[in-house]
Amino acid sequence: MLETTSKHEAAPSSLGMQKTQYDIAVEQFQRAADLMKLDENVQEILRKPRRILSINFPVKMDDGRILLYQGFRSQHNNALGPYKGGIRYHPNVTIEEVKALSMWMTWKCAVAGIPFGGAKGGVTVNPKLLSKHELERLSRTFFSLISEIVGPFRDIPAPDVYTDSQTMAWFMDEYSKVDRNNANAVVTGKPIIIGGSLGRDSATGKGVAVTVEEAARHLKIDLKKATCAIQGWGNVGSFAHMFLEEAGVKVVAVSDSKGGIHKKTGLWFNEVAAHKKKNTSLANLPSSENITNEELLELDVDILVPAALEDVITENNARSIKAKLVAEGANGPTTPEADDILFKKGVTLIPDILANSGGVSTSYLEWVQNLQHLWWTAEEVDHRLTAIMKKAFAEVWKTSQEQNVDMRTGAYVYAIGKVRDAMQIRGWV
Ligand code: NAD
Repeated sequence: MLETTSKHEAAPSSLGMQKTQYDIAVEQFQRAADLMKLDENVQEILRKPRRILSINFPVKMDDGRILLYQGFRSQHNNALGPYKGGIRYHPNVTIEEVKALSMWMTWKCAVAGIPFGGAKGGVTVNPKLLSKHELERLSRTFFSLISEIVGPFRDIPAPDVYTDSQTMAWFMDEYSKVDRNNANAVVTGKPIIIGGSLGRDSATGKGVAVTVEEAARHLKIDLKKATCAIQGWGNVGSFAHMFLEEAGVKVVAVSDSKGGIHKKTGLWFNEVAAHKKKNTSLANLPSSENITNEELLELDVDILVPAALEDVITENNARSIKAKLVAEGANGPTTPEADDILFKKGVTLIPDILANSGGVSTSYLEWVQNLQHLWWTAEEVDHRLTAIMKKAFAEVWKTSQEQNVDMRTGAYVYAIGKVRDAMQIRGWV
């Protein structure tokens, strides 16, 4: 047994403190580890990230002021391949959040069957308050400082909340200077012109739709008669809407940070997109009623897709959820307490590490294209992504059925088993 006390420390909830995302990530891991009777040494290693780089760095503002920012890169585990995970810019970024997200990436890559480990990064900043030049300086400085631990075969970052293909272009350019090579495989989610993949933008929403279709087949839900509500009509939510509509699902409610809209006869993707473009928010779409984000979650629909924030389905509202199927587009939208309530109610929940793994799977396809200097068509990428998602779903479904557990625990058991096997065969334990 390794010399640590982590498993035996009192859980924050029992001390009356709010659980962090990392506490939740460890709790989810522990459920599966206990079920698997996972070797104690393996548990100790997997409960914590292998390495966390914490950086304080100055950025010169346009008006000449120097501001100090804090950023992190957490590398959780690389038994299955190089570390992989996004970098987010947000005022609420903390080391605890980045640690949790890096752990989830390890399981997500293992579930998807792609040869990556898990990492995540972030800078504590409100990017909306910075000019484009300030953002560029911040991005270049941060990336040059983490260059010592990233690389095309070490750790491959990607966009996350409030970072995008432009940020990746700056990252790639900065790393290429340090590496003295044109290293486009060091990040994914790049603009197409410098090696981005076709289909990356829509990949996560597409993956959500594929997992919903697979679940519906098993649960005998006729998608042509099914209704759906989507919380968060951003990248993931809007493309999930588009692909679910293509599959025949009637999307009756969608929302953004300012609230939601509900229309019993269905909200067409094109209608919502045109309205959002014109008004910048979703509210007040003609012939639909405005609803709150809380009301959206409790609508009488067959399918619910939380695709915005973490911790939105909790012990306070889980009993009021009416959907039969929940597909987690967002990372961490459901608390462990809510998981139990939904499972007891007979709700099938497709966990984030499966439902939203289409993004990282297409990042993998981008990386493969970069390393081989070849380009696939949108159809080729789509075909490969669909195959990855279907296989991942089948494996998680099988494990959950065999173990008689909810799909999150099933996904963890499947993912942890793969990481454990890789650690063992590499001689780590
Ligand atoms: P995004 O910024 O494009 O969209 C987020 C959406 O959520 C926006 O419509 C925003 O208005 C809405 N929103 C913000 N605050 C809200 C609130 N309080 N209530 C309701 N809606 C609110 O982000 P995204 O890329 O779509 O990511 C959404 C989630 O999916 C995040 O949890 C992210 O980590 C996860 N995710 C994204 C990807 C990806 O490829 N983009 C991949 C995996 C997981």
